[in-house]
Amino acid sequence: MDRRPLSQEERETLASLLFPGLTLTEEALEKQFPPRDLPEGAVVSRMAPSPTGFVHLGNLVQGLTSERLCHQSGGVLFLRVEDTDAKREVPGAIETLIDSLDHYGIRFDEGATHTGDSGNYGPYRQRQRKEIYHVYAKKLLLAGMAYPCFCTEEELTAIHEEQEKEKANFGYFGKWAKWRDMPFDAIRQELDRGTPWVLRFRSTGSVENKIKFTDLIKGELELTENDVDHVLLKSDGIPTYHFAHAVDDHLMRTTHVVRGDEWLSTLPFHVQLFRSLGFKLPKYLHIGPLMKMDGNSKRKLSKRKDPELALTYYEAEGFPVKAVYEYILTILNSNFEDWRRANPDQSADAFKFSYKKMNPAGSLFDYLKLTDVSKNIISRMTAEEVYENVAAWTAKFDQDLHTFLTADPEKAKAIFSIGRGGDKPRKDLATWKEVRPYLSFFYDDLFQMDNSFPENVTEEDRKTILAQFSENYDPDMDGTQWFELVTKIAVENGFAAKPKEYKAEPEKYKGHVGDVSMILRIAVTGKSASPDLWSVMQILGKETVLKRLSAALNA
Ligand code: GLU
Repeated sequence: MDRRPLSQEERETLASLLFPGLTLTEEALEKQFPPRDLPEGAVVSRMAPSPTGFVHLGNLVQGLTSERLCHQSGGVLFLRVEDTDAKREVPGAIETLIDSLDHYGIRFDEGATHTGDSGNYGPYRQRQRKEIYHVYAKKLLLAGMAYPCFCTEEELTAIHEEQEKEKANFGYFGKWAKWRDMPFDAIRQELDRGTPWVLRFRSTGSVENKIKFTDLIKGELELTENDVDHVLLKSDGIPTYHFAHAVDDHLMRTTHVVRGDEWLSTLPFHVQLFRSLGFKLPKYLHIGPLMKMDGNSKRKLSKRKDPELALTYYEAEGFPVKAVYEYILTILNSNFEDWRRANPDQSADAFKFSYKKMNPAGSLFDYLKLTDVSKNIISRMTAEEVYENVAAWTAKFDQDLHTFLTADPEKAKAIFSIGRGGDKPRKDLATWKEVRPYLSFFYDDLFQMDNSFPENVTEEDRKTILAQFSENYDPDMDGTQWFELVTKIAVENGFAAKPKEYKAEPEKYKGHVGDVSMILRIAVTGKSASPDLWSVMQILGKETVLKRLSAALNA
């Protein structure tokens, strides 16, 4: 068959056949969505999730990166819903995404919301933008840069199999591109028959050529030109990601596209599209994947294998919002940790986030490091803040503990005050989930003996220690007087007053003062590790302390 590009006249006829009744124009759209009036250097970026329902750590990484770039520069962050694949759509997915990001302080200035759209550059849901895409599809068609293709699924599969046999590259290009430059009559015939069609890009690129490209995270890149006639509009008239990306990011005046680096392979096509449409190319930031160590090697976090990929995981584990947020900052910007050490009391917003510090290869997720960051953050909170956080968390995840804590908020706050404040606050808690084992012994109904008494103190000595302490304990004693009493009991029963003395002459003693306080600690808290014991007893009150000592004595 004689192949040649369609004439201008044929293209015009074809355009009216493919897009009948389209009255919207490019000029009207340009006028409706003018360049944004923002200060020099302001970044306009977006999140463009598909509503599939799963919100993962990568969304937070991308969200945080774009949010910081936009809001640090006086720009705009918006939310666009990429709902072009109706089959994969999960009801409520966008609301979940909005809420999950909001939870971490990532707020959109415009775009899709719970109650519809807000902002002047919408609609922000792609299925509602069909007519807009058609304006630009028609433009490409008229310019000879797009054409309809009537291949069936079976034909495309056959092409793929043939390419496999020939060890050729996959895709619709070159000799495989059946409908490219097909005579007008053949096209017309299919249209008259009502055969479904897709609109394809008419690529003039060649795999022999390379394009140079600067990505703000990846740096200088050399990429192979695209020679594939990719689909622009699917048979239902809805665009593919690629086409929607170009049209939307142009009309919404995006200056920076922040997205996962899985899109790098189709970037040459995107560059072609922006050029063909006469759009200015935005700047791109392709984020590397989140990885974790698996044995000795790194691998990408996987939805199937790693529960920690889901954002819901962190809330359920009880990591404070701030801890997750700052942990992400830590892995994205290598200088954040130093900044935090130098500025312990400043809000993380004061940190100057920079994409230049991001690792082009991606970030290594490290659970222990997250725990560390979290311990630091919780240790710097006031008892009041801890209480508020724990009350909110237990309301959702541990109703039983919630009831105990909120029945007497002053008691709970007193518990959280132990070891707090000062230069070296204690770092007992990494998550709100750990609160239950940490403080359950403060409540009679939750108290249980988790540890048995150590064997290095005889039963006889143990009973004497418990009895003597019970007889002499007075809640009015301050911490020093209390410790003097414990030391006195130790010495009277043959234990050294100081661990050092015992270490120097172990044969002289049964043990040291630490062994004595361990007996008291286990009797009163049921555990071998607890917050400061004098403070614990102050909160428990004399009656409970004596009751527990007596129970241990008679056990
Ligand atoms: N819907 C695409 C995704 O979820 C958006 C990529 C982009 O930000 O352009 O990966």
